[in-house]
Amino acid sequence: MATQEDVLKKVIESGSLPTLSTVASTLINITGKEETTTYDISKLIAQDVSLSTKILKVVNSSFYNFPNEVGTIQQAVAILGTNAVRSLVLSFSFLNLERPRHGTGFNYEQFWEQSLASAVAAKLIMAKVSSDRDPEDVFTVSLLQKLGKLIFASAYRELYDELLNEAEGSEKRLQQLEEERIGANHAFIGGEAARHWNFPESLTIPIAYHHDPESYTGKDSQLRTAIQVAHLASLVANIMYSGKPIAYHKPFRERARKMFKLDTVTIDDILSRVNTEVEAAAQYFGLKIQGTASIPELLQQANIELSLLNMSYEQMNRELVHAKMLLEKLAAELKEKNSYLQGIANLDGLTGIHNHRYFQEFLDKEMNRSNRLGNKLCLILADIDNFKKFNDFYGHQAGDYVLKEVAALCNGMIREYDLSARYGGEEFVFVLPETELKDALTVAEKIRAEIEQHKFHYDGDDYRVTSSFGVAEFDGNDNGRRITKSVLIERADQSLYNAKKKGRNRVEAYAEKTGWFGRTK
Ligand code: GH3
Ligand code: MG
Ligand code: MG
Repeated sequence: MATQEDVLKKVIESGSLPTLSTVASTLINITGKEETTTYDISKLIAQDVSLSTKILKVVNSSFYNFPNEVGTIQQAVAILGTNAVRSLVLSFSFLNLERPRHGTGFNYEQFWEQSLASAVAAKLIMAKVSSDRDPEDVFTVSLLQKLGKLIFASAYRELYDELLNEAEGSEKRLQQLEEERIGANHAFIGGEAARHWNFPESLTIPIAYHHDPESYTGKDSQLRTAIQVAHLASLVANIMYSGKPIAYHKPFRERARKMFKLDTVTIDDILSRVNTEVEAAAQYFGLKIQGTASIPELLQQANIELSLLNMSYEQMNRELVHAKMLLEKLAAELKEKNSYLQGIANLDGLTGIHNHRYFQEFLDKEMNRSNRLGNKLCLILADIDNFKKFNDFYGHQAGDYVLKEVAALCNGMIREYDLSARYGGEEFVFVLPETELKDALTVAEKIRAEIEQHKFHYDGDDYRVTSSFGVAEFDGNDNGRRITKSVLIERADQSLYNAKKKGRNRVEAYAEKTGWFGRTK
C-alpha cells in the first residue's frame, strides 16, 4: 500500500502539478522575504500587462466597493496590502490554467465553478466572522482547497473517475475512497502541492485541514479561523453543486452556529446572496460559469421533490385504502340503486303507476300463465275523452292533475293481482288475469262511471272528464287458436275506437268467439 509520501512523490514526478505562472511563483517567493517592498511587488505585477489590467478591473469592481477609483497596481498594493494582491494574482493564475484535454470524465469547468463558489462563500463568511481580517487569503484558500482533486484527476485519470463515480457526490465517501485506493486524500495532496509551490502557511495549512478542521491542533487562532471558514465554504459550495443540497445544508447551519455563533439571519443572508456573488466574481475573473439558482430556491426545490417522494408512497397507501372503501361503498350503493332503478324504470314519472314497458312484460307473463293454466284474461284500454280540448281550455297543468287523479282512481278500483298502467298520453291500460269478458266489462264500466262522476278539484276549480273503454278477452284454453299479444291489444284498441265512434264515455268489447263488438252501457 502506498504511503501518503509515495503518492506525493508520484504526482510530483508524473508532472501532474499545474504550473504556476512566472509572475505568481516569483511573487510568492518575494512576498516571503522581509526586505521586499510594495514597490517590488507592484513592479513585478506591472510587467504582466494583461494580469495588471485584470487585477485593476477586480479592484475597481463591486467585489471590493472602494469609494475611489484605484488607478495603478501600486495604488492597489498600497490599499489592499501585499497578501490580498498575492491572493488575487494566485487566483488569476489558477483560474486561467489551461484545461487538460486528456479525455477523462473529470469536469474541469464544474470544478472551477464550484471552487469559485467556495471562494466567494469563504469571503462572505469571513466578512461576518471577523471584520479586521482581510478575506483575500481565505478566498484563495477556498479557491484552491480542492486542488488535490485536480491533481488526482491528472495523475490517476481512470481510477479517479471511478472513485468520483463511486462517491456519488459525497465528499466524505470520496475522501475514504481516495485513502483506500490511492493512499492519500485530496486535502493532503492539495496542501503538499501548495507547500511545493512555496505558498505561505496562511494558505497551505487551511488547504490541508479544510476537510477536517478538528484535526488542526496548532495554536494559531487566525489559521484556525481560516480553516473553519474554508470548511464552511466548501459546505456551501456543496449545497450548490453536489445535487444534494439538503444533505449539506443542515451540517452547514449547525457548524456555522457552533464554530462562529452565526445566527439564523446571518446564515440566511450568506446563503441567499452567494449565487449572485458567484456570478459577479466569475465576470471579474473571466470565468465562464453555468450558475445555479439561489440556495433558498435549490432547497425549496429539493424539499418539494423529497416531500413528493415521501408523499407518493404514503399517498399511494392512503389512496389504496380509500379506493377499496369507496369500491365497497359503491358496490353496496349500486345494489341498492339497481333495485331502486329497476323499480323506477317500471314506473311512470307523472302518475306513479306502472308504465308501458312494464305493462308489456306483465301482459307477456300473464298470457303465458293463462296458456299454462287454461284461464281467461282480459285487457282493458281506456282513453280520456276530448282531452286535447281539456288541455287547451284549462291548461296543461290542470290536465296533468287529471291524469294523476285518474291513475289513482283506477289503481284503487282493481284487484291486487290486476295491473293498471299508463299506456301513453291520456291512455290507460288494465290487465285482469283469470277474468272473463263479462267481469272485465263490469270492471271497465265501474271505472268509467267513477271517472265520470268524479270531481277533479284543482287550483280552486272543479273539473270533470269522461273516458272511453275498449275490452278484449284472451282465452288461454282455446285449443291452439291462441292469439298473440299484439292481436289482443289490437282488439282492445278496436273496441276503444268503437266506443269513441259511438259517442265516447262508454265501454265496448270484442268477443273472440263471435267477433262481436258489444256495447255494455
Ligand atoms: P279523444 O276523445 O278522441 O281521445 O280526443 P282527445 O283530445 O283526448 O285525443 P287526442 O289524441 O286528439 O289528444 C290527446 C291529448 O291528450 C293531447 C294531449 O294534449 C293530451 N295529453 C297527452 N299526454 C298528456 C300529458 O301527459 N299531460 C297532459 N296535460 N295532457 C296530455
Ligand atoms: Mg288518445
Ligand atoms: Mg283521448
